[in-house]
Amino acid sequence: MRVCNQCLPPSFTYPAFLIYITFYADDTAATSGLISGRKVAPCSGSPHCLKLAQHWLSSCTSLHVECQPPSALGFPSSIAKLLSLNHPLPTRVIDVGPSDGSRSPFLWVPQVGKMGKYITLSHCWGPLPHFTTTSHNLADRLHGIRLADLPKTFRDAVAITRALGVRYLWIDSLCIIQDDI
Ligand SMILES: [Zn+2]
Repeated sequence: MRVCNQCLPPSFTYPAFLIYITFYADDTAATSGLISGRKVAPCSGSPHCLKLAQHWLSSCTSLHVECQPPSALGFPSSIAKLLSLNHPLPTRVIDVGPSDGSRSPFLWVPQVGKMGKYITLSHCWGPLPHFTTTSHNLADRLHGIRLADLPKTFRDAVAITRALGVRYLWIDSLCIIQDDI
């Protein structure tokens, strides 16, 4: 990377080059405990990456005091873990079905106060047309949502939710009735 003379220490003369060297180690390498960097996988949906995400999520919910919800603070760790995994579910969530994908997702209206574990998708809506729930298609969404009809970002979110062993997914454009706000 070439840099201008204003970015250089006084002892350098222009022109100069800075070279960045990044180290990484495989998980099984003897140096893996010393080098935190890992080679970036070509596909973030690979079994290896999903297993790593599960591991990080499990560590976060079970080991990080700072990541616990206020409702779990002050409880013994075994109870705090249960509390951190379960929150009051939103008014509507997408039930993604079993992790084996044997059932299509559908919009579900849980009882008020029903506790559960869910994942929220934060996404850019992108250009029109948007895939939404409205008062006109609400009954269809409650019946079922064909994966093939979903935008790719939503299909990926369903796949990740299933892979992480979570049953419910919240997507604003689907879980909020768009002509009811
Ligand atoms: Zn954490």
